[in-house]
Amino acid sequence: MNILLLGSGGREHALAWKLAQSPTIGQFYALPGNPGIAEYADVVEGIPLSAHDTIVKWCQEHTIDLVVVGPEAPLVAGLVDRLAAAGILAFGPTAAAARLEGSKLFTKELCKANGIPTAGFGRFTSTAEAAAYIRSQGAPIVVKADGLMAGKGVVVALTVEEAVDAVEQVFAGGGTEVLIEEFMEGEEASLFALVDGETVVLFGSAQDHKRAYDGDLGPNTGGMGAYSPAPVLTEELERRALEEILVPTARAMAKAGTPYRGVLYAGLMLTAAGPKLVEYNCRFGDPECQVLMPRFAGDLAEVLHATAAGRLAEVTPAWAPVSAMTVVYASRGYPGPHQIGSPIGGIGEASALEGVTVFQAGTRMKGGHLVSNGGRVLNVTATGATLAEARERAYAAIARIDWPDGFFRSDIGWRALGKAG
Ligand code: AMP
Repeated sequence: MNILLLGSGGREHALAWKLAQSPTIGQFYALPGNPGIAEYADVVEGIPLSAHDTIVKWCQEHTIDLVVVGPEAPLVAGLVDRLAAAGILAFGPTAAAARLEGSKLFTKELCKANGIPTAGFGRFTSTAEAAAYIRSQGAPIVVKADGLMAGKGVVVALTVEEAVDAVEQVFAGGGTEVLIEEFMEGEEASLFALVDGETVVLFGSAQDHKRAYDGDLGPNTGGMGAYSPAPVLTEELERRALEEILVPTARAMAKAGTPYRGVLYAGLMLTAAGPKLVEYNCRFGDPECQVLMPRFAGDLAEVLHATAAGRLAEVTPAWAPVSAMTVVYASRGYPGPHQIGSPIGGIGEASALEGVTVFQAGTRMKGGHLVSNGGRVLNVTATGATLAEARERAYAAIARIDWPDGFFRSDIGWRALGKAG
């Protein structure tokens, strides 16, 4: 099976690492890739991810059997539709199905129409109407703008005034509609499922840390670390989320003529009344993927192909009985302004430790040396018999890395490990 992997982050490095172990893989290419991915795949240069026509043509010329799409932007922009029209199989949803991530309003309406548990909501096109609704509901309350906002565009307002301010900002920023949601209380966890249009198969769980600094302080980031499985998601809660949220979603999408194919990533709030949907993502999480892949014990190429081809019913994913943790090593200053281009050493020493894999995100080669090239730079990842062991190994590995311009959180996993004592 000839595979083209799209993307250049830590998520794609983890996918490349696992795909390269697959006995069914033939030629393996990555676009645009990164120096970590280049250890496993031939990197394709000079084609931007937005150049859909060029990508389709390149796939035809290289007899690609499966395109694995890492990030959300090409999905929402319809790359999978273009590939399908050319007869090329891709792992990832069509643009119509990717609306589950691309439009919060679409997902809220789908939940409402199908009785899928989520926060109650109202949608408004003017500040006056939204403010009246906020006053009638009281705080805390949540204000959201529609569209792909990369985690921004959501304000959890603790007072009515703060909520009304947030509404004003959405409209001032060019938004035409605002979503006001009931505040859900509980612990958050991520649940992943593979969906082939009809069949839904659970594909692991994780929890991440969005804030930049220890103690969950500081600005929101793309994610500073994660671990898998999420101990808070018991088998019973996973079963409920599957039956009450994921399966009805897949059914509704199929019934609407826009079947979902790919990985469906549910951000869940575990409330006193059971799991409720916070949001959907239409791709693997980054850095959650980096802790799923080291636990997955099957043939990834075969599983992703089965998902894309509608043969998921034939597949039972196998998992190693281990926990995994990843700690993000980011450029000092991230998520604000930061320098790039500083040399990184010690990845070899770190990776030599038992259970450790260092996935690269924002890196590049410069004059034969690895240098930083972004905000989140490395994902130092370890497995262990327990989550505590995975954490010990990940932090022992990070201590071997020589990168004075980086910083990391020292408390990844505190929620789960605090509970375990
Ligand atoms: P979203 O982009 O919709 O995932 O929202 C970003 C974050 O805001 C979530 O991960 C939650 O921590 C929080 N959040 C979003 N919606 C709600 C809600 N209805 N109740 C409580 N917290 C929420």
